[in-house]
Amino acid sequence: MKSHHPSSSAGGWSRRQFIQASAAGAVGLSLTGLPASAAEKSADLPVLPKRRYGRTGLEISALVGASDWSADVIPLAVKAGVNYWHKAQRWTKETFPAALKSQPREAYKLEVVVDRVGGDHKRGHIDEEQHYQFVKDAVTKTGVGYFDVFKFHFGFHSLEEAKTNPGIVKAFERLKKEGLVKHLAISQHHYNDIGGDMAFEILDYLSQHSPFEAAQFFYTYGDRKETQDLIAAAKSRDFGTIAMKTMRGMGRASGDKQMQGLLSDPKYAGSTPSTAMVKWLMGNSNLTAAVIATKSFDQLFENVRAVHAATLGVNDRRTLDLLAGYNRGLTCLLCSDCVTVCPEQIGIADILRYERYALDYHELDRAKAEYRALTKNGTACIACGDCMPNCRADINILAKLKEVHSLLG
Ligand code: SF4
Ligand code: SF4
Repeated sequence: MKSHHPSSSAGGWSRRQFIQASAAGAVGLSLTGLPASAAEKSADLPVLPKRRYGRTGLEISALVGASDWSADVIPLAVKAGVNYWHKAQRWTKETFPAALKSQPREAYKLEVVVDRVGGDHKRGHIDEEQHYQFVKDAVTKTGVGYFDVFKFHFGFHSLEEAKTNPGIVKAFERLKKEGLVKHLAISQHHYNDIGGDMAFEILDYLSQHSPFEAAQFFYTYGDRKETQDLIAAAKSRDFGTIAMKTMRGMGRASGDKQMQGLLSDPKYAGSTPSTAMVKWLMGNSNLTAAVIATKSFDQLFENVRAVHAATLGVNDRRTLDLLAGYNRGLTCLLCSDCVTVCPEQIGIADILRYERYALDYHELDRAKAEYRALTKNGTACIACGDCMPNCRADINILAKLKEVHSLLG
């Protein structure tokens, strides 16, 4: 079953969630600092389990939070045990959540992501001094004292660069000596479109070589075997792993009436695509955690409960298979295999990642900004068709690039 008419309505999984999330802004605050309805609902919210984040030794929640979550959701997430916060440098002293500030600093873990300078993640470069200064400034701006994890955002372009460019590691070591950061991790993308290497190749190397201690990367249901293997190998090497971009196609499926109709069949009872995905992720005991964009109370409740339930039931498997069928030909796995064969070196996977921002996360402005910053977009396609047989999601890439260009160009 496929529908190629994705909705542009508000995000999340169910209509009920959308309504409750939008109503959330209107509720008053309880004595606990949580909005009243959240405080009521959270009374029986189970606390998330923690897993060891590889050789950092940090015990982090199975679901990690992000600084761009709404101010309504964050206190509830803290209550649910979310103790690791991605992109924490985006907070300031003024916006730093009260729910965290009220706890001892050791109770929560903060991550600073460090980007290349002088351009985006493909055109920018590594510069020890600027990275050092960026984190130093971020410590001052946020007032957090230190960051638990220094994460090199988007990662190395190639194995060669990972082996020979010491700028990131040197910046980290200087900051560590000053007590401003504690651990080193990486968020790795594929770079085969610019003649570099795939994420799993670079991470396989880094996981065997200090000083990197953990990594974040794309991982979802139906993903490539190399990523599964990497997660298992990382575990055996005590290298932490966080999955990102896990909710492939969820936003589109949530607005698709045909898909909703199918899901109302009793054979999917008790399951939703997002909770089934969370259970599937958590079923991989080699994985440390997952970061899942969370926009509402109910979405957080569902995810936390799914982590706690853990076991993937028969109906959950059916739901995941239904979602996989829905995604076939429609949503990209971000595997980047097509990019390897493209004579025009078009960053197809990046373009389709921006499509996800627009259609699954409902962040059209962000998607357009990212798309417009590309040096080469979908219009560079010469329609040779070489990429098509390589697509493990059976996407008509030619047609898809045109669609995305109309949406974001
Ligand atoms: S059809 Fe377009 S995107 Fe695909 S390989 Fe050819 S030029 Fe690249
Ligand atoms: S379009 Fe297909 S081959 Fe290319 S990244 Fe997406 S899923 Fe992989």
